[in-house]
Amino acid sequence: MADDASWKLGQDIEIHCRFCRLNLDGVVAALGPEGSLLKVQCRTCRHFQDFKPPADLAAKRAKLVAKAMRIAERHTAGQGGTRGSTKKATPSQTDLSPEAVLRKMWEDATKDAHPLKCRVYDCHRAYKVDELIAHKSRGLGQVREVADGAMVVLFREGFVRLEVERPVEED
Ligand SMILES: [Zn+2]
Repeated sequence: MADDASWKLGQDIEIHCRFCRLNLDGVVAALGPEGSLLKVQCRTCRHFQDFKPPADLAAKRAKLVAKAMRIAERHTAGQGGTRGSTKKATPSQTDLSPEAVLRKMWEDATKDAHPLKCRVYDCHRAYKVDELIAHKSRGLGQVREVADGAMVVLFREGFVRLEVERPVEED
């Protein structure tokens, strides 16, 4: 039942509620223009929220994200001076290279995206985590973190830090 176009408002759906922190029954509460899931409502606590798949999937994804964020730190910590804090390389229990993990994440994040409908990156704007954006030279990306006037975006070639909400100076 993963076909995006088949969702209907009010339809029952199994969710992982971020407020209850449990797998629960939810209801489709908002659909995107293409019939994609935008919001769901938890039947238990009644909170509206972004759809999250039930926990085993979510846990897998969280693991990927955690791994990728460590990679991102390495790539974006240039100015941070994390000397001496580099633990020895990630234990190689998995056969996935960091690049492969990132690429997979990017593919998952953008597979249902419509490039023409993604907002074009503009340093004066604000963005939300998970939002898909279009960047002139880097292509499609997904916002992974937003903090302190910057965001980390996952692009095809990896994580990139971009400025956001730069004040507009009017002369
Ligand atoms: Zn809930």
